[in-house]
Amino acid sequence: MADVMRYDDNCLFCKIMRGEVPSDRVYEDSFCYAFRDIHPQAPTHILVVPRAHLVNVTEINRENGDLIGHVFSAISKIAYREGIAEEGFRVIANSGPHAGQTVPHLHFHVLAGTQLGEKMV
Ligand code: AMP
Ligand code: ZN
Repeated sequence: MADVMRYDDNCLFCKIMRGEVPSDRVYEDSFCYAFRDIHPQAPTHILVVPRAHLVNVTEINRENGDLIGHVFSAISKIAYREGIAEEGFRVIANSGPHAGQTVPHLHFHVLAGTQLGEKMV
């Protein structure tokens, strides 16, 4: 598994996972942490974050692939627990400026609870 201890002192999501900034926790395990987005864009809007400080999708590689697989299995678990698995949800990972990424710690938005906006793809 990727270096779970990797963190950045100045990173908001690293601070949230260390309990230095409060969050509305939904799920956690040894490798990832999930909490409700502070500005929800849908009735259910959860951020699922690997504990390791990876900046975005550009830092995913063969070495940390197990970690990313683990994060997606957590997303599946969360979807069932939140009751959104049946009706469906969308997973988004903004990576870099053109995607509008605002927090430079890899995270997956899980959006659900209504008919979601028009699909871009
Ligand atoms: P992105 O723009 O894809 O980098 O997503 C960052 C997300 O983090 C945005 O949807 C913000 O609303 C959310 N966010 C920022 N600060 C917090 C916080 N303290 N607690 C929960 N969500 C946050
Ligand atoms: Zn971080």
